[in-house]
Amino acid sequence: MSKHELNVNPISSWIPFDKKPLIISGPCSAETEEQLVNTGLALKKLGKVDAIRAGVWKPRTRPNSFEGNGTIALPWIKSVKEATGLPFATEVATPQHIEEALKYGTDILWIGARSTVNPFTVQEMADALRGVDVPVLIKNPINPELQLWIGAIERIYNAGIRNIAAIHRGFSTHQKTKYRNAPLWQIPIELKTIFPNLPIICDPSHITGKRTMIYETSQRALDLNYDGLMIESHLNPDQAWSDASQQVTPDALEQIISALRIREATSDDALFVNHLEELRHKIDDADRELLEVVATRMSLVEKLGEYKKDHNVAIFQVERWNEVFKTRPEWAERMNIHKDFVAELFKLIHLESIRKQTEVVEKENVQ
Ligand code: PEP
Ligand code: MN
Repeated sequence: MSKHELNVNPISSWIPFDKKPLIISGPCSAETEEQLVNTGLALKKLGKVDAIRAGVWKPRTRPNSFEGNGTIALPWIKSVKEATGLPFATEVATPQHIEEALKYGTDILWIGARSTVNPFTVQEMADALRGVDVPVLIKNPINPELQLWIGAIERIYNAGIRNIAAIHRGFSTHQKTKYRNAPLWQIPIELKTIFPNLPIICDPSHITGKRTMIYETSQRALDLNYDGLMIESHLNPDQAWSDASQQVTPDALEQIISALRIREATSDDALFVNHLEELRHKIDDADRELLEVVATRMSLVEKLGEYKKDHNVAIFQVERWNEVFKTRPEWAERMNIHKDFVAELFKLIHLESIRKQTEVVEKENVQ
């Protein structure tokens, strides 16, 4: 997909923060006024948190789990804002949530993963946001479907909202992984390629589901030049009413943030730039060679197609491909290339070989 100009504003124009990355933190849910205010104060004391988060309405996968305090929690927003002086962010899933959240002074809204999957829900919220000046963060949909994420961003953008960021919170997949929601980093990377100006925030809490993994996932996000992190925190994580295993204490949050290595997007250092250019030239040369080899392979495939045709043999021979799929990843491993990558690569090569040979055979059929 081609690049789209999304004329969105940088985060620093709508949340004041001096140190990269932006940090949004706070409990999964606003449980009590005391819990919200005291967590907010402890976070404020760290001097490293730029906005407080807490769920007022919690869309839970199954009924009978805590679904948020709803309306009764709204006045607590004012209390935590007054106590900390920090902006407050919460999740909205209906036009009514938007209206109520804004009435009680919410500074930043986010659309949750269970809402992003539904274009009707997103459009209803977009309509409610028309003419409203509030930042909106859009979480990725639960399922690994980039188009739904893009669609939700476009709907909010088309409603006139320009203070937008995406939140990467991971995806449900059938494969068993060590994550609660598999990060599938290639999806947010593709989003960034399509919308280069769109800020991206990582939510390592919902990706990992485990407090011990939050640091490594946050670092990975920063290495990919994400703009910010949204990390769930709680004064007493084990007693949290929702998402207990992934929340960290404010002290633990401070340790995580201090240990993070912040990388620069780029560097002006002349030596660095020179060396970077040199390596990129070498990569360009390697890519050219790679394509030459691919071209050679494809012309051999074409010859093979003709030969099969002449001898009236079917294009696809399963034993041959089983052998290719088995041996190539094995060869790759010996060369220190990841076998899964090579398996994927050869699936593509296989498809193209079949296409090419079919073309050869069909051309001859016509003659
Ligand atoms: C949350 O941020 O607490 C939340 C429910 O997130 P998600 O929509 O990513 O599941
Ligand atoms: Mn949560």
